[in-house]
Amino acid sequence: MEKMEVALVSCERYPLIKVGGLADVVGALHAKLKKYCVPRLFLPGFSAVLKKYRHQPYGQFDVEFSSKRKEKGVLLKLADTQFPETYLICNEGYFARDEVYGPGGKDYPDNPERFSFFSMAALECCARFFQDTELFHCHDWQTALLPLYLKTHYAGRISASTVFTIHNLGYQGIFSAEKFGILGLGQEYFRMDQLEFYGKVNVMKAGIIHSSVLNTVSPTYAREILTPEYGCGLDGLLATRKDDLSGIINGIDYTVWNPAFDGLIAKKYRLLPGKRLNKRALQKKAGLPERDDIPLFGFVGRLVQQKGVDLIVEAVRQSEFQFQMVVLGTGDTEYEGKMKELAAKMPYCVSVMIGYDEAYAHQIYAGSDFFLMPSRYEPCGLGQLIAMKYGTIPVVRKTGGLADTVEPFDSEYKDGCGFVFEDPDPGQLASCIQRAIGLYADSNAMCMAFNRVRKCNFSWSSSVGEYWALYEKARKKK
Ligand code: ADP
Repeated sequence: MEKMEVALVSCERYPLIKVGGLADVVGALHAKLKKYCVPRLFLPGFSAVLKKYRHQPYGQFDVEFSSKRKEKGVLLKLADTQFPETYLICNEGYFARDEVYGPGGKDYPDNPERFSFFSMAALECCARFFQDTELFHCHDWQTALLPLYLKTHYAGRISASTVFTIHNLGYQGIFSAEKFGILGLGQEYFRMDQLEFYGKVNVMKAGIIHSSVLNTVSPTYAREILTPEYGCGLDGLLATRKDDLSGIINGIDYTVWNPAFDGLIAKKYRLLPGKRLNKRALQKKAGLPERDDIPLFGFVGRLVQQKGVDLIVEAVRQSEFQFQMVVLGTGDTEYEGKMKELAAKMPYCVSVMIGYDEAYAHQIYAGSDFFLMPSRYEPCGLGQLIAMKYGTIPVVRKTGGLADTVEPFDSEYKDGCGFVFEDPDPGQLASCIQRAIGLYADSNAMCMAFNRVRKCNFSWSSSVGEYWALYEKARKKK
């Protein structure tokens, strides 16, 4: 039997272009789904990708949103054999820019135009060049219009199912009502049961309402988003699709994230003494005293409210920890500022680097004793999964994917693999950090915890199988 042809439509794919965890997920799916189907990836033709990777022209196309909005685009194919079936949807005006979504954690004002174009262009390219496409897998609000355009502009031209994956419900693509016109949809779609949202346009609603099935990236987050606390105003709508909503935990690509083979860290390791060498190297690079008798906490992630950055700052300010902390991240200017202030106040124990740095991220995972992830909400979270592979003990809040993947330690550290606290409260985080400092002082217990944490396995094989099952379900529901 011929394998099903699937279009993965996403703004990120590791290592071509990455802002966050979405890139890792799409990278793994694109590589590993081959076992089941023909996965063809469509990315916007961002300058960063065009500059770095060889490509060749594949075709030209036009899209027509309405009589007033018609656009042209070019489809390129990557020539790098490492990335087969990878296509770039190009339009200079929209994608020849430095940032994916916008500068400094803000959105470009024309994101509705950019991503409605991307969504429709992916459909157009399949209608023209890949007529056997049976399923579209859309990721996040930037591609949420695709399932709707399939029913409107492409009805009769393409017959396919759609899967819509919500990687983070906190980003919905909400725009002022004046932008509705550019989407090329009839006025009947600007109603409360469609894209209208408190007088504005909410693009994510299109994906939730019109996809064949939808999922998010952990079972707990899939349940949480049905509640007002985590639903970001969409819990009611999501509840109407409860039977079609599932949670599939993300995996980790262990060919990239494995301390035994990692060429980006100071010393490859399998055992604790090897890790200690990485700790020294990290302390040196971070400008902190090179000491073994003090525990080192790492943080790698976006510096935004979601990640509980303020909880870390408050917990550290309130307590006088005997510890070191190394932070790497970019995000909101406010949270970047708070972190920099903390480092300026405590230069001997806190080191902060604002920026995106793949190699330094690896070095922090390898060189830290503990990894902080006190997220206010966390759809899945990759940081804690990576940390565990490096024998770095996670300190997390019990929410979303963190709750699904970090089993709390028992009181004697004989079971479990991390420190878990319940509420988004700096005091609760501080007491977890204090417990972690206590564990560090007991070298036998620390060694046992290291060995246990190292064994936690979150490889992609089972999650990719679950995605395939979801595709089959979607196909039946077309
Ligand atoms: P999110 O997708 O919400 O940003 P995840 O924990 O799911 O968070 O994934 C974040 C991914 O991005 C991890 O692989 C992490 O190592 C990486 N990352 C985040 N910030 C940085 C940074 N400043 N430099 C390098 N890697 C980063």
